[in-house]
Amino acid sequence: MIVAIAFVVLGLIGAVQAGLAGADFMLDLEEARPALVQAKPVTTDPGTPRLARRVFLVIVDGLRFDKSYELPFFDELRRRGVDLEASSHYPTWSRPNYVSILTGVPPLASGVRTNHHTTPVLIDSLMDRIHASGMRVATATDYDALPRVFLRPRGQRPADAYDVADLTELDDERPSGIVAPDADLESPFDDGRYVPWPGGFTEAGTALAAGSADLVVFLVGAPDAAGHAKGGASPEYREAVREVDHALSRALARIDLTLDAVVITSDHGHTDRGGHGGIEPEVVAVPLILAGAGVRPGAGSTTAPGAQLIDVAPTVAALLGIAPPGHGLGRTLVELLALDDTARQKRLDADAMRLAVNRAIVARASQLSDALVNEHRTGRIALVIGGAILSIGFVLFAIRRKTLRLRLRTGLVVIPAFFVAYFGLIGTIGRFSPSLLPANAHMAGQLAKYGLVAMGVLVGTSMWALRNRPTLAARLAEANGIAWIGLMATMIPAGLLWALFPPPYVTVPGPVFLVVIPAVQVAVAAAAAGVALMLALEVFVFGSRALGRPG
Ligand SMILES: [Zn+2]
Repeated sequence: MIVAIAFVVLGLIGAVQAGLAGADFMLDLEEARPALVQAKPVTTDPGTPRLARRVFLVIVDGLRFDKSYELPFFDELRRRGVDLEASSHYPTWSRPNYVSILTGVPPLASGVRTNHHTTPVLIDSLMDRIHASGMRVATATDYDALPRVFLRPRGQRPADAYDVADLTELDDERPSGIVAPDADLESPFDDGRYVPWPGGFTEAGTALAAGSADLVVFLVGAPDAAGHAKGGASPEYREAVREVDHALSRALARIDLTLDAVVITSDHGHTDRGGHGGIEPEVVAVPLILAGAGVRPGAGSTTAPGAQLIDVAPTVAALLGIAPPGHGLGRTLVELLALDDTARQKRLDADAMRLAVNRAIVARASQLSDALVNEHRTGRIALVIGGAILSIGFVLFAIRRKTLRLRLRTGLVVIPAFFVAYFGLIGTIGRFSPSLLPANAHMAGQLAKYGLVAMGVLVGTSMWALRNRPTLAARLAEANGIAWIGLMATMIPAGLLWALFPPPYVTVPGPVFLVVIPAVQVAVAAAAAGVALMLALEVFVFGSRALGRPG
């Protein structure tokens, strides 16, 4: 009985710990102070002529490439300009890729890895460059995430003192980056309008189009919502995309494409069932349409192969004749622009200088983090091995005292049934990619649903395996055996993955691990809860039988 109580206590501690670790894992991936923001942005102005009086940059949230065709307004812009397929950046979530588009820095280097990023983004942005050039930028959106992700405490700017050689250690002091709720925040947009879809958007868009902001950023969230609700292959998603085409055709009806330019793209696509975050082709491929002043008509995917979202910001900067955002890791898509040879070369030279500096910073940070990761890994592996040895010692003692018994049936049926149920559900109903998540879901929360079913399977098969044992002592000894194997079988893999992927997360584990790491932690929680429930049931079942038995 004492062994059983010990397992319940140990199990519950394990469950809470693992559950918390699983829930926190995604948040741990956020970097408050990535190496680039500790660096002075490279903002040398290449000094090329302004190609477009104004630029309209449209981000259609969740618009996948193949569903961006057969739309009257989009197709007309393609005919007049450039039709490209571009790639989004992993993890293919919204906020990380708004940052990719507007700063030219992908999630791995910007530190904005999920939609839960809570610290100010101090990466140099298109908005920073616009203001530095005395220009103005406006936005209209039906989704408030875009202005919000770029809010900064008033006066806070990208670092202004830096030398690559100074980067000798990583500065990831999270508390310093957190914005107090009452902080005096500043929007990077001179005119920001958060409006209802679609009427409010069309109205605000029309007003901004008639205004004078040099750059106007539109973010439309409606297709992403439809994708999450009904899937990227659904008629509802298609209808939402058509509505975007229509709303934009009305908002931009009066702009003069001989003077102004339009750039349309998306932050990520959607799976057929709905979801994104991983590296599925339908999630990574996004449209990139450019038309109007400064755009060389007819240039396409063959002229600019391998275009990425991080190339959008420097390309928009070139259209406006200003310096590209200075932390950027993308290139100016000069082959799409109406630049003469001299101007083109100036842009290329400026890109080369910026990329050399920023790539060196990112490489240096990755080197420094490798050293830290190795150090943390060794410490954690030692802890896991030590814990396993302690646990085996405890069990050998319990076996000798006959309070714990290991049987083949437990090893071959009960525990495998738990794993088959759990990982089977993740692989079939979900998938081993962050794209398994529906809208706004939390990874650990989503996995916990599968864990609950697996927990039921564990309790059910345990009761079956323990049936017909003659005494409470015998039942409990076997139940203890199941409990121990269940806890070990889930805790050791969880411990090993915890040990293998320690912070700092200067790089991000791949899409499979992004699911497997929280999944094994949630498995510990499910197994522990299942074990506690089983042991309680055992005592209850045996007790009621003993009472019901005559004489
Ligand atoms: Zn999105």
